[in-house]
Amino acid sequence: MHTTPNTLALIGNTPLVLLKGPSEAAGGEIYGKCEFANPGASVKDRAALGIVEDAEARGLIEPGGCFVEGTAGNTGIGLALVANAKGYRTIIVMPETQSREKMDTLRALGAELVLVPAAPYSNPAHFVHTSRRIAEETANAVWANQFDNIANRRAHIVGTAEEIWAQMDGRIDGFTCAAGTGGTIAGVGMGLKAKDEAVCIALSDPHGAALYEYYAHGELKAEGSSVAEGIGQGRITANLEGAPIDTQFRISDAEGMEWVTRLLAEEGLCLGLSSGINVAGAVRLARQLGPGSRVATILCDTGFRYLSTLYNRAWLEQKGLAVPPWLKG
Ligand code: PMP
Repeated sequence: MHTTPNTLALIGNTPLVLLKGPSEAAGGEIYGKCEFANPGASVKDRAALGIVEDAEARGLIEPGGCFVEGTAGNTGIGLALVANAKGYRTIIVMPETQSREKMDTLRALGAELVLVPAAPYSNPAHFVHTSRRIAEETANAVWANQFDNIANRRAHIVGTAEEIWAQMDGRIDGFTCAAGTGGTIAGVGMGLKAKDEAVCIALSDPHGAALYEYYAHGELKAEGSSVAEGIGQGRITANLEGAPIDTQFRISDAEGMEWVTRLLAEEGLCLGLSSGINVAGAVRLARQLGPGSRVATILCDTGFRYLSTLYNRAWLEQKGLAVPPWLKG
């Protein structure tokens, strides 16, 4: 028998695929960690499982209890699936600016959805603060707190980083990805550095985020904006504290979308924009590290989640982004 003992064991152990176009562009080897292959179709299934199991281990949640979270969507999807599999409820708070597909998906999975207007983090109405309040006011509820709960990055230290190291037989020169909570970049960075201090860890920051300036010049400062969902951080979250960032890139939506479009047209991979930004960063990192260098990055979620945005002609035109030829017909 070659079976999997339970559905939660389907999370993680994702494939690492050689990306042909990006490798050729970089003159090296670029590998993408296929996080869209998780049951919830994103990298956030790992954090969701890590957070739920940490709450269980610390005795914070009772049978039939509830997980509450503020999320751009993917963490909510992961939490809802993990909670269903373990007999818990979920209440998900998200800004109403997120894609329609994510909202429909969360409702379909059985999460109770609370939509709030987009507001700055300093505003008490911000989705993260709203989710904390709801958790405090709900009996037998735990606030997942993905931004500042380091069970998030631990899932990447013990999972994602170990897997990448093993899949590349320890022959890896660099790793890069963008940050939302920072759990992925910090966790994979720490995990890989523990194996080999020489692995170069690079942050690929979208426009509108403050981390590029922070790691480059020590000041949290944002410039411009991005339509990428799930990434773009304005503060040092608990997950980002101590993240071993060696270098950083600022990647535009246009540069990320170029790879989203090329990876679909040339390699049959349908991805979201954070994946495109990560691949753009990986190409830059491999060029910087020199010919033949081997760089891994994260393919964060499936493009099927963005049919009404990244794969919609009217939306792309409205955002001033290039429309792929096959959507022009
Ligand atoms: N890409 C997408 C699509 C996401 O939803 C997230 C999670 N917010 C990320 C990237 C970033 O992951 P992390 O929270 O681990 O920084």
